[in-house]
Formats: sequence, structure tokens, C-alpha cells
Amino acid sequence: MTQEKKNMFLYVVAGVAAIGGVLFGFDTGVISGALLFIKQQWTLSATSQEFVVSAVLIGAMIGAALSGRIADSFGRKRTIIVTACIFAVGSIAAALAKSVEMLIMSRVIIGVAIGIASFCVPLYISEVAPAKQRGALVSLNQLAITIGIFVSYFIDDIFAGVSSGWRYMFLAGALPALFLGIGMIFLPRTPRWLMIKGKEDEARRVLTSMGTTDDIDADIRDIKRSLGEEKSAGWKELLVPWLRMPLFIGIGIMFFQQITGINTVIYYAPTIFQMAGFKSNVVAIAATAGVGALNVIMTVVAIFLIDKIGRKPLLSIGLAGMIVALGILGLAFKEQAVLGDALKWVSIGSLLLYIASFAISLGPVAWLIVAEIYPLKIRGLAMSIATFSNWGFNFIVAGTFLTIVQKLGASTAFWIYAVLSILGWIFCYFYVPETKGHKLEDIEEHWMRGKSPRAL
Ligand code: BGC
Repeated sequence: MTQEKKNMFLYVVAGVAAIGGVLFGFDTGVISGALLFIKQQWTLSATSQEFVVSAVLIGAMIGAALSGRIADSFGRKRTIIVTACIFAVGSIAAALAKSVEMLIMSRVIIGVAIGIASFCVPLYISEVAPAKQRGALVSLNQLAITIGIFVSYFIDDIFAGVSSGWRYMFLAGALPALFLGIGMIFLPRTPRWLMIKGKEDEARRVLTSMGTTDDIDADIRDIKRSLGEEKSAGWKELLVPWLRMPLFIGIGIMFFQQITGINTVIYYAPTIFQMAGFKSNVVAIAATAGVGALNVIMTVVAIFLIDKIGRKPLLSIGLAGMIVALGILGLAFKEQAVLGDALKWVSIGSLLLYIASFAISLGPVAWLIVAEIYPLKIRGLAMSIATFSNWGFNFIVAGTFLTIVQKLGASTAFWIYAVLSILGWIFCYFYVPETKGHKLEDIEEHWMRGKSPRAL
């Protein structure tokens, strides 16, 4: 194989695995449009609606907690193939649901698949990618997530006018699952996992075919060394004093990624648009598709900027934009009587500003930071804790949004997220290190010396 073909092969491999990210996005986003019809079909209360939305998140927490062990025992490749099957089964079951209970169960099953995918896909990509392309490829997964969300809005849009359209909305998720499952069969197993299983010959073959290294012997030596270290790593290692700071940062950035309300927009955007005065389901879903498209576009912008201007400036600018957008949104709902019909347009404008700001900051940067700040030997465990926290905080926000709106009003809800975004800005300023251009080993050494994050 020529070098060019090998490079192509690497992108195909990462691209196929990233369909897992598309499914993550699709299956979390699809509920926003489907919910409008489901709540009509079974006349659901706010609490039941929150259950339908949050079922996926409970599943994802379970999936994220189990994923480390599953991926180590069965291998990354096989885990992703099984995940694709779970996605397909869950999608078909959701589409056929005869009752809201059955729908909730199916959504828990889909959630388990999402939880596993959100951990295993970046892991798979990072283990087959050469170090110098790892940053861009990790963010590629975030791009896949936003594409999945956008496609879900688009599908919601297509089926919004069809009777029992929500069933087709869920069913559509089975298709990418099929592509992922079949595609993965043809992909290699990761050299790193093969080495864990003592299959050095196959690991060498994969490294050769991927063409991502000039010195295979050196790579094999590196993997062996890191495996030696990894065997001793566990909960005890994780809690040594010099690792507390990166652990705090990882959980903290996931906390702020979720608690600042991103998924009230992703899951409930059509509901928010209806609260703002758009009466038809179809128009509310179409406006949401615009939000989804901007999310994709701004994530592409972030991928271009992330290695140039760095992670911290993106966080500062993005969080500032989120604070402004949420402040305006809260104010607009407060002054509903004064604004009248204009509330519609103010709500669209501020949600667009909000999503664009998130997409260049907390969206890609949170997942990237978590993949960068942990020493190799505890990366798996620490990443799965961060992933689990992400889903846990997501669950809290998605499960309380409608109740907060009902009890305290929409303006208070958005102002709460605005205040939390201010705290997020302060947290990122003081605690998130600028990892741009640093080798992972340098970051590890920085923690070992007990230096502050800002000193990196
Ligand atoms: C978050 C998801 C969110 C998505 C929106 C991801 O980084 O983890 O919770 O729905 O971004 O684009």
C-alpha cells in the first residue's frame, strides 16, 4: 500500500468508527421532535415527558459505567459491533412501542448503547490514530455527534406531518446502526488491545497496514511499557494527591458542559419554541433544524481553531456568548407581555447565539481536555469516570428542566443556566490548563510536580 492509500485507510477507519458518534447524536436528538407527538398520543404530564427524555440518560450512565470492563475483555472492535446491534434492536423496539412504558424501556436500551459508544468510539479512534493526528480525530467524534443531532432534527422534520410519524423517527436510527455494525466488521482491532491479549504478531500487522508509524519496534516497546504501568493502575492510583487536580478538572468541565443547559436546547428546542409562541409542531421542528445546522457548522470552525488559538480562548469566548444568550432569553420570557409576537424571534436569535457559542467551546473542548489531561496509566478509568459524570449531570438537567419551567417559569430556568455559565467561565479561567501544543508526557509531569493548571 502506498503512503497515501494508508492515510486514506486511517480516515476511513476513523470515519466508520465515528458513525458511533452519529448514533450518539441521533438518538439523543431525535426525542426533541418525537416528544411533541408522543405527549399528544398518550397525553403525558411534564414528569412523564421528563421520563421519556431521561430514559436514554439512565441507560447511558449504565453503559458508561460498564464500558471500560467490556471494552477490555471483548476488545474495542467487538464492543462497538455489539453496541451497533443494541442500537438497532432498541430503535426497532422504540418504533413498535405499544405503551409509554415499553417506549421508556426501549429508550433505556438505546441509552446503554449510547453510553458505551460515547466511551468506546473515542477510545478506538485514539488507539489506532498516530499521536500527531489524535487531537483532530478526537474532535471529529464531536463533529459526528453534532451531525447525528442535525440528521435527527431533519428526520423529525420529514416525519412531522406523517401520522404516527414518531415511530419512523425512532426507526430511522436503525439504519446508521446497520452501517456501523457492518462497517466495523472490516476494520482492524486496535494494536493496543491486541497487545493486552498477547497477540503481538497481529498488532504488528495492524500497525504496518495503518502506516501511521515509521518505527514499529519502538511503537510496540511503548505499548509494552504503558501496559506494564497500566496493570498497577486502579482506584488507589487514581486518588494519589497529584492526580486529584486533573480528576477535579475532568469532572468539573463535564459538570459545566451539562449544567449550563445545552441539552435543554438539544432535547427540548421545539418545546421552547412553542413556549415562545410558535404554535405548529412543524414550524417548531423546522426552527430546531436551524439550531442543529449551526451546531455542526460552528463545530467545524472549532476544529480549525482549536490547535491554532488554543482551548482556553475558545472557552472564554464561547462561555461569554452563552451567558449573554441565556440572559437575553430569560429576559425575553420575563417581558413576554411587552414583547408579544417578537418573543418568537428573540428566542430563535438567542438560541442560535447560545448553540454557536457552545459549539466552539464546551462542546468539543470538554471531551478533548478529558482525553488529554490524564496520564496514560489511568486514562481509561479516569475517562470513564468523566463520561459517567457527563451523563449523570445531563440526567439531572434534562430531568428537571420542564418542572423548573412549570414551577418557577421559563425566565428563571434560563437565568439559572446563565448564572451557572458565569461560574463555568470562572472555573475554566482558573482551572482548565491550556494543553495546546503540549506533549501528553509534559502534562503528566506538570501534575507530578504539583504545579497549578494555569502554570502549564
Ligand atoms: C455533549 C452532549 C450534547 C452535544 C451537543 C456534546 O459534547 O456531550 O450532551 O448534546 O455536545 O452538540
